[in-house]
Amino acid sequence: MVQVADNLTNIQTTIQTACDKCKRNTSEITIIGVTKYVTIERTEEALQAGIQNLGENRLEGFYEKYEHFRERAKWHFIGTLQSRKVKDVIDKVDFIHSLDRTSLAKEINKRSEKPVNCFIQVNVSGEESKHGIELSEVESFISTLSVYPNIHVVGLMTMAPHTDDQELLRQTFRLLRETRDRISSKQLSSAPCTYLSMGMSNDYQIAVEEGATHIRIGSNLVGSKTSEV
Ligand SMILES: *Cc1c(COP(=O)(O)O)cnc(C)c1O
Repeated sequence: MVQVADNLTNIQTTIQTACDKCKRNTSEITIIGVTKYVTIERTEEALQAGIQNLGENRLEGFYEKYEHFRERAKWHFIGTLQSRKVKDVIDKVDFIHSLDRTSLAKEINKRSEKPVNCFIQVNVSGEESKHGIELSEVESFISTLSVYPNIHVVGLMTMAPHTDDQELLRQTFRLLRETRDRISSKQLSSAPCTYLSMGMSNDYQIAVEEGATHIRIGSNLVGSKTSEV
């Protein structure tokens, strides 16, 4: 099994290349280590290698890692969140990447005692199987959130389609960035919307070239269940 530190070095090199291409600074990019497939030990290795942000997409995995590591990481919940589970996680997460409906916003607002950093999950490609707000609905969705003082919209998140079509991936990320730009230019106090959570193991280089600020890397960093890279 390749050491996480070596994987991280490779990822950092790729980020550097992508940043050079589009004149960005690597300090703008946060790597979220997605540990959903791996053990506590492998997660420990990621933290030792310098990863400071961890992401989980399911509650069981989230609790397991959170209980173990607590304040040694910033915690990102990146999966679908059921409203009835909000009360259990709300005091533990630093960022929720999957705000995709008003009922969830209402519950987060009610259960938290302070503003929660949320990314709006956007279904850029319009695939029916995907969660998320349609691109054309994002701005009106965000304006409906202004009645919830504990919803702080820090950015937009998307999962790109499963494809090797580089142009389609680029187009997906670019559309999200353009939408982000429109929203952030309004300078709403409840929705600064400066971040872009996009890019996973297979497509993060393109995502960084298109403006990603938070990339969510699982298999390329810590490995997956089937094959530890
Ligand atoms: C699993 C997962 C990732 C990481 O995927 P990899 O391809 O293993 O890097 C990123 N984002 C979400 C929402 C995920 O569920």
